[in-house]
Amino acid sequence: MATFSPLVDELLPTNKANTRGGLVPNNTIVHGWAGTNRASVIATLVTGPARASTNYIIQGDWIAGSVPEELRAWTSGSNTFDSAAITVENANSGGAPGWPFSAATVDSLVALIADCARRYGKTSIAHGWRPQGSPVWGVIGHRDVPAQSTACPQSLWARLADLADRALQQLTEAPTLAATTYRVRPGDTLWAIARMFLGDGNRWPEIQAANNIRNPDILIIDTRLIIPDGAPAPSATIHVGGRAKFTGTRDYGGRRLQTWTTGTTFDVIGITGPRVVIGAGKAVTAAVNIADLQPM
Ligand SMILES: [Zn+2]
Repeated sequence: MATFSPLVDELLPTNKANTRGGLVPNNTIVHGWAGTNRASVIATLVTGPARASTNYIIQGDWIAGSVPEELRAWTSGSNTFDSAAITVENANSGGAPGWPFSAATVDSLVALIADCARRYGKTSIAHGWRPQGSPVWGVIGHRDVPAQSTACPQSLWARLADLADRALQQLTEAPTLAATTYRVRPGDTLWAIARMFLGDGNRWPEIQAANNIRNPDILIIDTRLIIPDGAPAPSATIHVGGRAKFTGTRDYGGRRLQTWTTGTTFDVIGITGPRVVIGAGKAVTAAVNIADLQPM
């Protein structure tokens, strides 16, 4: 079994890794790659001969999994700390002296921290290392690991408390989810699972949204999917070329839309997972969440 976050856009090969020696992940150790090119991260931590690896790599919107969460990645120079943590290598968006990280990279990191805390059953997230069994998911930087003389994670280090706060907000705002779950088997697709549970394969974006799956083409075997609710399929579906009534107040990115849009029926112009572009004819009004649309 290889567990990865449903947020991954890509699965990379696994480099150096060991068992966790009976420990379970209870923290995120944040790393900053001294470089802006993710190919260089992969060349070193995934395919290279160096005695190093990482559970996840982030650059902007792109999140990749390399070492499965069951295994200890060789990222932080400490068997003990890596054994109790999910390690994340973040590519810079610029070089010395500031070593900045793009807002998109930080957003991806926050989402990944929140997702890990949720999947490991934590009720809170905080800056600082947390011991095994804590109900709180801890967040530290590489340089917080004892005996590490490193500047890693560079400019992210001063922002760890803020990252933990933002992740906590996402954790506590997550909707209460239905109890039905399904373990992914080889050969499954979101479409087939939607047809099985929701009666209509075209409702797969609902399962994608409920599980925060970023890339619907990557379905990881043995992952437990939350099935949003087994209500019978509506007679109509949201589809490109169809019409849908917008019932929300915000766009897909969370920005408030003009009040007239709520309750208005639009043409559906495009669908990418849970993100639906609506408008009139070919004129785009906004991109919204499929959950805020009612098929007409
Ligand atoms: Zn590091």
